[in-house]
This record gives sequence, C-alpha cells and structure tokens, in this order.
Amino acid sequence: MRMIEAFETYETTVCRIQTARSNHLGYPYNLTERSSVPALLGNWLINNLGDPFSGSHFGSEVCGLERDVVSWLMKLWDCDRTEDYWGSVGASGTEGNLWALYLAREALPDATLLYSDDAHYSIAKSARILRIKSRRVDSHPDGSIDLGALRVALHDLQGQTVIVALTCGTTIKGAHDDIAGAILALDQIGFASSRRFIHIDGALNAMVLPFADGAPRSIRPSFRLAIDSISTSGHKMIGTPMPCGVLVARRRYVDRVAQSISYLRSNDTTLMGSRNGHAVLALWSNLFGRGVDGFAADVAGCLHRAQRLARALDYEGVPVLLNPYSLTLVFPEPADDLVRKYQLASYDGRSHAIVMPSVTAELIDQFQADYLAWWSTGKGRAQSSLAIVA
Ligand SMILES: *Cc1c(COP(=O)(O)O)cnc(C)c1O
Repeated sequence: MRMIEAFETYETTVCRIQTARSNHLGYPYNLTERSSVPALLGNWLINNLGDPFSGSHFGSEVCGLERDVVSWLMKLWDCDRTEDYWGSVGASGTEGNLWALYLAREALPDATLLYSDDAHYSIAKSARILRIKSRRVDSHPDGSIDLGALRVALHDLQGQTVIVALTCGTTIKGAHDDIAGAILALDQIGFASSRRFIHIDGALNAMVLPFADGAPRSIRPSFRLAIDSISTSGHKMIGTPMPCGVLVARRRYVDRVAQSISYLRSNDTTLMGSRNGHAVLALWSNLFGRGVDGFAADVAGCLHRAQRLARALDYEGVPVLLNPYSLTLVFPEPADDLVRKYQLASYDGRSHAIVMPSVTAELIDQFQADYLAWWSTGKGRAQSSLAIVA
C-alpha cells in the first residue's frame, strides 16, 4: 500500500489546538471543557431523523431530549403557551437563520427582507439562496439598526409584505437592535401581524440578555414582543463541543410547510433529514447541567470581566467600544503577532475580543499587558481617529 502523505499528525494536531484554546479571545465560543456526550453514546450513531415532535421509525434517536432542549429555550424566551411554538436543533446558527427565513417566505411569498448593515452575513446569504428580495438598512455607529432608516424603508414598502431580520448581539460590535422600536414602527406604518414576519438572530446574545440584570425589555429576545422566531448557536454561550444551533418559531409557520413522509413515519419540517443526535445530547447536558442559575453566574462574570478590560484600555487612551449588556469589545487592530496569538477577528483596522466564560481573568490580564505594550509604542495611535464610540 502506498502511504498517503500526511498534512499533520494526531500529536501535533492536539498540541496545536491546546495552544489555540488557551489563548483564544476573538470568537464568541465558550471553550470551557465539559464532558457533554457520554462516551458510550459518543461511539453510537444517534440520528434525530425527521421532525423532533413526531420522531421517526428509526430507533437510535434522542428526540425526547431534543424537545426538552427546545422547551428549555422556549421558557427562557417567554413562550407562554409552548404548544403554540415549534423548535428544533440544527447544524448551526446559520441554519436557524436560513430556516426561519424559509418559513417567513412560505408565509409571505412576495415579501421584502429588511436587515441592517451590521446583520450577520448568513442573513444576506439566506436571502440569495431563497431568492427573497431584500434591502439593507443603515445601522448606527454602535452597530444597532437605525430605526429612522427602517421607517423610511417601511414607508417605501407600504401596502406590501415584509420580513424583518433583527439581531440580538451583532457579530462585530455586539449591538442589540431595538426590537420593541422596530415593532412600533411596523405597527404605525400599517404592517399588521398578517403582513410581516420578524426573526431575531440571537446567535450569541439570545443566551446572554435573558440572564443580564437590568437589560431593557425592548432588546430582550422574548416572544411576548410580537416576534415570530429566534435562533441561537449551541457552541457559543451554551458551549457544546461541536457546532450546532437551535431555532424556535411560532408553530403555525411550521405546520404550513410540514409534509408527511410516510416511509420515515415523520413530518418533513427541518432543512436536514438526518440530524446530529450528539449535538442534542451536548445541548441537553449543558442546559440542564448548568441550569438558569449557572448561566446567570457565567453571564454576570463575563459582563464584569468585559467591563474591567474596557475600562483598563480606556484608561490608557485606547478608543474602545463595549455596548451595554454585551461581551464584545472593539478596539484598534494591534500588531500581527497579537492578532494571531489571540485569534482576534479583525477588519477595517479594528479587532474585536469577546469575553466568554472560558476567557479567564488571567487570560485577560495577559492580553491587556500585551496590548498596552503595543499601544505604548504609539503605533496604534494613528488609528485612534477611527469612528469607534467609547
Ligand atoms: C455567529 C453568528 C451567526 C452564525 O452562527 P453559526 O452558528 O456560526 O452558523 C449568526 N448570527 C450572528 C449574529 C452571529 O454572531
């Protein structure tokens, strides 16, 4: 047998990932190590084929645990009558966004999608895949949607139907769109609930804001506001060891698209047929293992450390943006070796760091020292004219 040339050995891979994990600051991933999938089940195929609420003929599934995961989030997001809602575990936050916009388009086939400049790229991509006509709306310098610009767009579309994608925790600036303000604009400009669909992309902060003391109701991911769906990522605040996500939507939209697939003895209500049961197990053990109190403690700690880092940078004259109730800091992009060491996501001369539960006070101290040493060389000051709001 001819040996295939290896790109990397197992040992160097483990070593590389260990280093990457310990210095990680740039992505909103909770890298806290938790044993989420029991070893025995980890070696078995677990496939949640078909609709989580009807199960399927395939026996090696954990649809019951999936419904528990979905119910946990329904409660967190204020679904008062859970029977009026549906939810499922998907491959990622992106799949949740795509599927929500599909449900919206099926209900409102001619609708125009409105989303802000700071929305995640998966929103525009979903619109392209689904061939939904769309229009971008300006956002404020802090990253939240400009409701004045939204009103202008709504006036232009008067008499038509709209899908509005709002963000709870934007990717770059960690901003929260004013959900209640957007709904008020829709109401006042004459978009009754039958002519609109509101999706909340809460990939990171739909699992942060419900635990943040004092966060205003207007930006909270809550079905008591007249929204239609919320999606979140499993590997961000929840901390699963594999990418995954959860979508919750009003059930009437899902019933509309459900088709019965007789050979599965299930309903076709999900984008993927076969779905990752291990992701469900990981979500289930993290949500029920940490519990509401555990996440509340995580979020309080993260907010505290994020604010401490922002104050320390601000004290040295670094222009830094940290939105209220947010874990995302934006500052001038430092030297390349620091960007690489801390895996800082950077664009347009700015970088961001996200203070997750795995970002310890020690890691922050080390980063702060490295960053301020670079800042004191004066190389960063050329960028301090950037329009970063403090
Ligand atoms: C990370 C992120 C996504 C995408 O989530 P994935 O789980 O990586 O697909 C979508 N929206 C926002 C706001 C995000 O920050």
